[in-house]
Amino acid sequence: MKEKIGNCTKCGSDNLLKNGHTSNGKQQYFCKDCGAHRILEHEKDYSEERKGEIIRTYLERASLRGLERIFHVSRNTVSGWLKKNNRKTCLRLKKLLSR
Ligand SMILES: [Zn+2]
Repeated sequence: MKEKIGNCTKCGSDNLLKNGHTSNGKQQYFCKDCGAHRILEHEKDYSEERKGEIIRTYLERASLRGLERIFHVSRNTVSGWLKKNNRKTCLRLKKLLSR
């Protein structure tokens, strides 16, 4: 089973490899999609439902800043999801919203 590390803070991809640690013990990753070497930040795991809820809230009314206040999710994380999942998310959201 593929281990889920988190999402690339640059492009939002979850196609990441662990790439050692920094001198202060932070996990680093290598992004196979955009080639970024970054420190993996405080990445909380969001379930698909949670993501959907957050993105839906964003599309309906909230600003990214509002989302930070409501869900305590970083703007970068959300915009990463939006970029990466744009098409898939839109389709899923249409389903959700048409209920
Ligand atoms: Zn990336």
